[in-house]
Order: sequence, then C-alpha cells, then structure tokens
Amino acid sequence: MSVAREGGCSCGAVRYRLTSEPLFVHCCHCLNCQRQTGSAFVINLLIEADRMELFSGEPQPVDVPRDDGSTQRIFRCPQCQVAVFSEYGRPQVRFVRAGTLDDPAGVAPDVHIFTRSKLPWVVLPDSVPAVEIYYDRHELWPAESLERLDAVLTPATDG
Ligand SMILES: [Zn+2]
Ligand SMILES: [Zn+2]
Repeated sequence: MSVAREGGCSCGAVRYRLTSEPLFVHCCHCLNCQRQTGSAFVINLLIEADRMELFSGEPQPVDVPRDDGSTQRIFRCPQCQVAVFSEYGRPQVRFVRAGTLDDPAGVAPDVHIFTRSKLPWVVLPDSVPAVEIYYDRHELWPAESLERLDAVLTPATDG
C-alpha cells in the first residue's frame, strides 16, 4: 500500500500531489543547488510531470543560470516565491523539492551526487551510493523506473 504524497509552498497557494512513487531521489551537493537553496544540498524527487498533480495554484517558471552555462527552469509560487520544482531541459520529468513535501521525512536519497563540492561537515551514510559528479542511471535506477522514463521520453507511435 502506498499513500500519495502531498506538498506545497509556504503560503499555501500552490498545492500538489504525487500520484506515484518517484523514479529516483537525488541528494545534490553541487554549488548551484547550494546557492539556490542557501543550504548544503537539495533533495529532489524525480517524477514524470503527469504524475505531479497540481490541484492548487500555478507555479511560475524562472530561468536560472547555472555555472556550466546552461539554465535551469525553477517553478515558484507566484505569491510567496518558494521554489517547488525544477526542470532540467526535459519537461517530461520534474525535480520536486523534497523540502516542500508535507512529510519530508517520508523520502530518503537514492544517490548523493556532486559530492566533489559537498560541504566537509556533511557526513554521508555508507549504505547509499555517492558519486563525485553524476552517474549512469542504467546502473542505479530500478528497472521499473527506467521503463517509466522510456515511456515518457519515447513518443507513442500508435493510437
Ligand atoms: Zn506560496
Ligand atoms: Zn545540484
């Protein structure tokens, strides 16, 4: 049995429900995420856009420059400006900020990424994969998540 996760911004204008488990959960220690959050890392739930049901409010996109020259589209509550989720190029997959969940303790990272810029006082558990930069999802994601990703990235050819 699984219970749908819900979350939202600080003022309550934006509310969402995740209709399934995430594909994967990142804890990112990169400098972009540190700057954006004003903290040591960000925790992102990767999930298909159509499995994030926004039942209140319309988060507004803000394109934010990243150190590598690319931009990251961050969706914020139009009123309180709290960042709720991001897109990295592909609108089919959203990176939902775990801190906006009503119960942030309900998820834990599946991988720690960009540990090369991890703050030195953050101690990672041995039980969770950690990589200096990034990883190959075919090595870490469960088969079911890989299939789900393929399903949203591959255009349907019939019907
Ligand atoms: Zn708000
Ligand atoms: Zn990052």
